[in-house]
Amino acid sequence: MRGLKHLVWTFTRAYDKKFAYSLGDGRPLPDELTTDEAKMFIKKVADFGVENFFICGAEATGDPMIRKDFMEIIKYTSEYNLAPYVKTNGWKLDEHIVKELASCNCKMIISIAGLKETDDFLRGEGAYEQSIKGAKLCAKEGILFSLSVVNTKYVVNQIRNLVKLALDIGSKGFSLASLIPQPICVEEQLQKLGPLEPSPEEHEKELNEIYALSKEVGKNFKLLPYDIFYTRILRQNEPSLKLTGGCSLYHNLKGNEWLEVLDNGKAYGCSTLGLMFGDVREDSLGEIMDRIRNSDIVKKLADMNNIKGKCSICEFNTICGGCRAKAYVYTGDMFNHDPLCAYKPKGKGSR
Ligand code: SF4
Repeated sequence: MRGLKHLVWTFTRAYDKKFAYSLGDGRPLPDELTTDEAKMFIKKVADFGVENFFICGAEATGDPMIRKDFMEIIKYTSEYNLAPYVKTNGWKLDEHIVKELASCNCKMIISIAGLKETDDFLRGEGAYEQSIKGAKLCAKEGILFSLSVVNTKYVVNQIRNLVKLALDIGSKGFSLASLIPQPICVEEQLQKLGPLEPSPEEHEKELNEIYALSKEVGKNFKLLPYDIFYTRILRQNEPSLKLTGGCSLYHNLKGNEWLEVLDNGKAYGCSTLGLMFGDVREDSLGEIMDRIRNSDIVKKLADMNNIKGKCSICEFNTICGGCRAKAYVYTGDMFNHDPLCAYKPKGKGSR
């Protein structure tokens, strides 16, 4: 089976400025893919076929543009017409770079941490302006870009204004980026990020507001929280909608849907759970995806009979099922119910 829908590549975990939610020490991994290895990986991506190829820094904090060979790698992707999505804080964007990115058919995801005051509080003074300036340069050059907001308790009451901001600066979409889960030390995530996360009730409020806003903004603007609970929100509001939600990892059992490749080339079905299925230095994407499809642990996770707590009896579990990685980070058990879900199941057959 050839071709993959989504491939998310953490190009580097290095960062040059520590935010309130930064994890790790900001240094690159000693075994990060070299420029030549990165090019070899890109060739594998092109040979296999990837519909949506994301080049990112470490979750929330990072910026792939920090690597000196960033533009060399981007130009290499254009030799294979990969048209990647680049997720960045936008600080390194200037007119020249934006023109180059446009000529390589890149699409951008510009990350901020909230409205100005919140952003400056979480990322440091001037962070917001720099990101918005970068976003506006993308708009000027005709690069398709989307605004991604790091979801903390500070943005819960800012959703409407953030969506307005996205529209005002020419963004074609808006999404929320979860702080947890991340593919790094569980204790550090809980200690540092746990207190910043919205409560389950606050998160439910955000998702309902996003649903309401999606009806106002029109179809040309992509308003998606990329959140496992959102399919349930859609179904609750529009029971007749045909939906296939749930964890992308499980969809790999039927087709090639989702793969994460970390900066050291290790390939994961879910990096937070440590579900590693190969190494792009040695393996083809086909071999890696075959291993996921035949994995006993993925099959076990996808079977809702194995899931505990309220997710096991929830009438929405076939389109949701909760995030196993969040269950693992918060409870130490990947088979547990999702502790961040505010929904109280009515039980199967109640819809
Ligand atoms: S209880 Fe579990 S399956 Fe039901 S909506 Fe919440 S997370 Fe999803």
